[in-house]
Amino acid sequence: MKIFIFLAFFALSLYGIDIFQGKSEVIILENIDKNSVVKFQNKVIKPIPNPLDKKQMLILLPVDYKSLLGEYKLEYLHNNSKKSILIHVKKGIYKKEELRVNPKKVNPPKEMLEQIQKEYKEANAIYDTNGEKIYWAKPFIYPLESEITSNFGNARVFNDTLKSYHSGVDFRAQVGTPIKATNDGKVVLVKERYYAGGSVIIDHGNGLYSCYFHMSKFFVKVGDIVKQAEVLGLSGKSGRVTGPHLHFSFKLFNTTIDPLDFITKVNTSVFN
Ligand SMILES: [Zn+2]
Repeated sequence: MKIFIFLAFFALSLYGIDIFQGKSEVIILENIDKNSVVKFQNKVIKPIPNPLDKKQMLILLPVDYKSLLGEYKLEYLHNNSKKSILIHVKKGIYKKEELRVNPKKVNPPKEMLEQIQKEYKEANAIYDTNGEKIYWAKPFIYPLESEITSNFGNARVFNDTLKSYHSGVDFRAQVGTPIKATNDGKVVLVKERYYAGGSVIIDHGNGLYSCYFHMSKFFVKVGDIVKQAEVLGLSGKSGRVTGPHLHFSFKLFNTTIDPLDFITKVNTSVFN
């Protein structure tokens, strides 16, 4: 294990790491000062102890979907001297969904704008909070076992204009399907919202949040401490949807990342 970590570290300090737009990476370091402030693309990223080996520190590193391509330095401290790892941001390959709609339908009604803005600010303030307590110490799970109907990252092009991209993954779910917490955490938002409909957000600690949208019923409230697999509520078709499903997503240091890719990365690099 030690040799593997050493070799892996040697390789990454030589060549750096490739990360695609919209994806994340788990970097395991032993030679890092515990209070080291890691900087990447003007974001401060606090390393956290590996739940299975407290000598190691984990850096959960998100790369924004719209990040400029190129080389970036991830900087940290070891014995008070500055070290860095080279990160190559590569082009994310995602499908395009071309939609032709009545231009009036792209924009919400005027009387809803204030509420939408308020909801956006509220969620943003949550995602910007990097709580000290780390809640998770187990592999992450999917919120339900079902077919995926829309992947993360699909570009949504309305009338030839790139409007947005799919910020999570959609699971097929009949109204009333139990939705489980992906891991331990603290419930920080339970609310009906304009776009997302019935929404639950869980804080997993240090800037990591999981989100469950379009739900029809809640079994938790703000402040609840939940365990992995605890049922948060029932799926639905609330908000702006074309049919019933669960929209599941993660925010990491207020960056939207591919949720299933993140689960695979954490589960294989930390818990294998
Ligand atoms: Zn979705």
